[in-house]
Amino acid sequence: MKMKKYDVIIVGGGATGTCMARDCALRGLKTLLIEREDLCDGASGRNHGLLHSGARYAVNDPESARECIAENLILKQIASNCVEDTGGLFISLPEDGLDYQALLVQKCAEAGIDARIITPKKALSLAPAINPNIIGAVKVPDASVNPFLLSDVHALDAVRHGADIVKFKAVTSFLKDGDSVVGVKTDKEEYYASQVVIASGIWSAKLAEMAGAHIDMYPSKGSLLVFGHRVTNLVINRCRKPSNADILVPEAVVSVFGTTSDKVPFEECDNMRVTREEVDFLLKEGVKMLPSLASTRIIRAYAGVRPLILEDSKSSLQADGRSASRGIVLLDHEERDGVPGLITITGGKLTTARLMAEKAADLVCKKLGIDAECTTAEIPLPGSYLKRRSFGAFLSGLGAKKEDTPASKTSSGAKRTSSGAKRTSSGAKRTSSGTKRTSLGAQKTSSGAKKPYSAASLPVIEVEKTVSGEKKSVSGAKKSCLAVRSVAQKLCSKETIPYAGIAALGRHGSETLKMDFTGEGAEIVCECEQVTSAEISYCVKEFGVRNLNDLRRHTRIGMGTCQGTHCIQRAAELLAIELGVPEKAEEFMKDYLQERWKGMTPVMWGETLREAEFMRSKYSSLLAEGEISAK
Ligand SMILES: Cc1cc2nc3c(=O)[nH]c(=O)nc-3n(C[C@H](O)[C@H](O)[C@H](O)COP(=O)(O)OP(=O)(O)OC[C@H]3O[C@@H](n4cnc5c(N)ncnc54)[C@H](O)[C@@H]3O)c2cc1C
Repeated sequence: MKMKKYDVIIVGGGATGTCMARDCALRGLKTLLIEREDLCDGASGRNHGLLHSGARYAVNDPESARECIAENLILKQIASNCVEDTGGLFISLPEDGLDYQALLVQKCAEAGIDARIITPKKALSLAPAINPNIIGAVKVPDASVNPFLLSDVHALDAVRHGADIVKFKAVTSFLKDGDSVVGVKTDKEEYYASQVVIASGIWSAKLAEMAGAHIDMYPSKGSLLVFGHRVTNLVINRCRKPSNADILVPEAVVSVFGTTSDKVPFEECDNMRVTREEVDFLLKEGVKMLPSLASTRIIRAYAGVRPLILEDSKSSLQADGRSASRGIVLLDHEERDGVPGLITITGGKLTTARLMAEKAADLVCKKLGIDAECTTAEIPLPGSYLKRRSFGAFLSGLGAKKEDTPASKTSSGAKRTSSGAKRTSSGAKRTSSGTKRTSLGAQKTSSGAKKPYSAASLPVIEVEKTVSGEKKSVSGAKKSCLAVRSVAQKLCSKETIPYAGIAALGRHGSETLKMDFTGEGAEIVCECEQVTSAEISYCVKEFGVRNLNDLRRHTRIGMGTCQGTHCIQRAAELLAIELGVPEKAEEFMKDYLQERWKGMTPVMWGETLREAEFMRSKYSSLLAEGEISAK
């Protein structure tokens, strides 16, 4: 049995675990992350994809609201290729009245969220698909986030800063020295560390139990519907007390509507299925907000489990999911349960995962006696050098002259410092208590005005400090902007792949520079999501893709309207060759179809039924009869 020693081991590769791995690696800790499946196999890959502005929590949970707006602004800066800065609306239907709207706007102001009342007419001009009978609307800085990519880039950056990531291996037990946890065990290996952090979502309860600690968790199932088009370009929330079926998020080429909130047994958390009743309920409520949903094809349904914690560990498990805490929960099991060496970080949201990681890494450093500041709020993630919002302008300005490049001016027209770095409004150095984070938020909200974006003034993100603490000039941010611009120029001039190149840039930002679009690289494999052979090769190399389902999470392959009907044969063959296992192409296809089928089954009527029949007839001639089924 192999034995390896780390400063910190993180169990769970969702948003929280990957953010934590990056944070620890950036602080110079010898870090290991262990995930039993692929990254994002838990709630982080089965959520709404809403980068909360915090408005949803402003009335009932002001602390969460403040955390959300701060993290929302940070992620728009450091993970621009994962976030689409759509903006959001809270719409009031006639039966909702306007009392809640007034309260929402007041509480948003108190939490520092830029929430503005706009007229129904204006709201309809921004989002023509919303119910024309709305009586009020509020504009908020909600956004759409690609949760798979967000975890990918955190993991990628962690590895680039020295972390080890072990995927597809479950932690089966904890290694103990007396009461202390000193490591973890998988089926074949033992890994030792000074601190072990459980970041395992809803499975944290089970893992804590295995280590001799206890957490009262509440598994709250949420189901979602995926509609085959972008019915709006903004996030649409219903303006009432947070409830079921009240948010629509535009995501790439589709729209996601949800959710429900029901307690489920722990044993079911590994295999969530959406029921027909849930589909009917979601559709009925969705149509009230966006009438065109009634005639928009639902391409699939999926569900995840929220890792909620009961406020009081002594309370009974009868509380409903919406009243259980959605706040961040950091548990020091040494103090709480007499189990030194063990910490749990859970609760929270996808939006606040970076902050959760910061809090947990602060505690790990304290325990290890290490004085290392958190830098994750300032250092851009791989690919994130362009602000997504400027992307349209960026593309339309591809012909811009060289002297108009982003590096020569700031968006306000001011000159850059000699290092090329643009200072924050306060110019203050970040402290571990996060002072800079608030100044980042203030920078935007104090003036209330949006910065003008144009191809000639693409903002460059400041990168001042490296892991080791020494100063480093903007770490290629300027170069990267210019290089991405030149790649985009080349891609756009290629008749074969202009949209695919743009799609890759949208997903991977400046990482697109690492893709080779020459020759076969320019071949489009998935038409719906415009995924090329070059993007597939890049993902295989960078993310350790094992099969088509993994590939989907990193590229969105097969996640568009046809759900893979047209592309998976091509994709399976290409991937199998890329991985050097051509004999596995059929197996990849079969597993992929199985997963797609699972999501299509609850919504199989009308167009989706026709698509499913087409898919079945196409692939049953390739695969043995009866092999595709909704197991
Ligand atoms: C339906 C729904 C909608 C949501 N919508 C939003 C939203 O729009 N915006 C938002 O901000 N938040 C949203 N959330 C909340 C958000 O998704 C979660 O809070 C967040 O993803 C939790 O991340 P995590 O990393 O803590 O847990 P998870 O993503 O669940 O990750 C835990 C990981 O631990 C792994 N694991 C478990 N056991 C072991 C083991 N023994 N060994 C190794 N690994 C193990 C699992 O495989 C899993 O990958 C939503 C949640 C749900 C369910």
